[in-house]
Amino acid sequence: MSILVVGGAGYIGSHTVDRLIEKGYSVVVIDNLSTGHRAAVHDQAAFYEGDIRDQEFLNTVFKKEQIDSVIHFAANSLVGESMEKPLKYFDNNIGGMISLLKTMHDFHVGRIVFSSTAATYGEPERIPIHETDAQVPTNPYGESKLAMEKMIRWADQAHGIHFVALRYFNVAGAKPDGSIGEDHKPETHLIPVVLQVALGQRPQLKIFGDDYDTPDGTNVRDYVHVVDLADAHILAVEYLKNGGKSSAFNLGSATGFSVKQILEAARQTTGEKIPAQVAPRRAGDPTTLIAASDRAREILHWQPKYDDIHDIIQTAWNWHVKHPQGYQDRES
Ligand code: UDP
Repeated sequence: MSILVVGGAGYIGSHTVDRLIEKGYSVVVIDNLSTGHRAAVHDQAAFYEGDIRDQEFLNTVFKKEQIDSVIHFAANSLVGESMEKPLKYFDNNIGGMISLLKTMHDFHVGRIVFSSTAATYGEPERIPIHETDAQVPTNPYGESKLAMEKMIRWADQAHGIHFVALRYFNVAGAKPDGSIGEDHKPETHLIPVVLQVALGQRPQLKIFGDDYDTPDGTNVRDYVHVVDLADAHILAVEYLKNGGKSSAFNLGSATGFSVKQILEAARQTTGEKIPAQVAPRRAGDPTTLIAASDRAREILHWQPKYDDIHDIIQTAWNWHVKHPQGYQDRES
C-alpha cells in the first residue's frame, strides 16, 4: 500500500515525499508540473504527470496503484495572484478537490491530509490564532482553501473520508543538505526573495508597507521549517490510521517575526548587506499572523526541530547558494 502525494513536485510536497521515503513508506506522486519540478521528486517515488481535475487520469492512477492514504498539496497558493485572478484559484483549487474526493470515494480510500492555510482566518480576531477562531478570508486564495476544508467535512460526513486539515503559517527553509528547496517562478515569498537579493539576483527587497499596527510597522508572520512541516503530514497520516478523529491543526512556531526582523536575521546569516526599500502595502495581506499550535503538539505529538529563525534561513541559504537558478540546472 502506498501514500499518494498529490502535488509532490512542489516545495512542501517534495520535502514530504523525501521524508516519507526516508521513513520507509512506498510513495506515489501526482503533479501537473505547472509550478512543481520533476527534479524535486525523489527517484524512489512512482511519478505520474497529470492534472487532478482530469477524472480519467485520476482513475488510471488509482486503478494501477494501491492507495492507502492521500496527502493533498496541489493548489495555487499566492495571495497576490489570487486577488488578480480569483477564478483561476476557484477553478484549480476547488475543482481539483472535487475530482480528488470523488475518486477517493469511488476507490474506497478513506484518509486525506490536506494543506490548508492561515489565510483561511483572514484578519484574525485574536493573536495567537486558535483552530476554533472565526475563518473569514481576506483573499480568494484563503477563500478557496476554506471552501476545500468545508467540502472535505461534508465528504467525511457522507462518505467517511476522514481528514486532517493542516493550516500552515509561513513555510520556509530547505532540506539542510541543500539538495531540494524552494523554487517558484516568479518568487514572491519573503525569505527566498531576501536571499535572492543577498545573491545579487535582485537589486533590493521591497518591504510591502511599514505603516501597519505592529512594533516596527511591518507585517508579522510565524515561520515554520519545511522539514518540520513535512513531518507533521506524516504524523497526521499515522494519526488517521490509528483511528484519530477528523480535525484541523495549526502548524506554526508560536513566534512572530516582522518583515524587518527577517531582513535583519538574513543579513546576519548570509553576511550580505541586502538593500531594502519601503514600498506600498500589498493587497490582501493581514497585519499579523501567529499560530497557537499546541493542538498539533499535543494530539499529533508534533515536535518541530527548527525553532531558531537563523537556522531556518541558513537551510534556505544552503539551497540558494548551491542552486542559484533553482531546479533549472537539473531540468535542461
Ligand atoms: N513581503 C515583503 N516583500 C516581499 C515579499 C513579502 O515585504 O518581497 C512581506 C509580505 O507583505 C508579508 C510577509 O512579507 O507581510 C510574508 O509574505 P509571504 O509572501 O512570504 O507570505 P504570506 O504571508 O503572504 O503567505
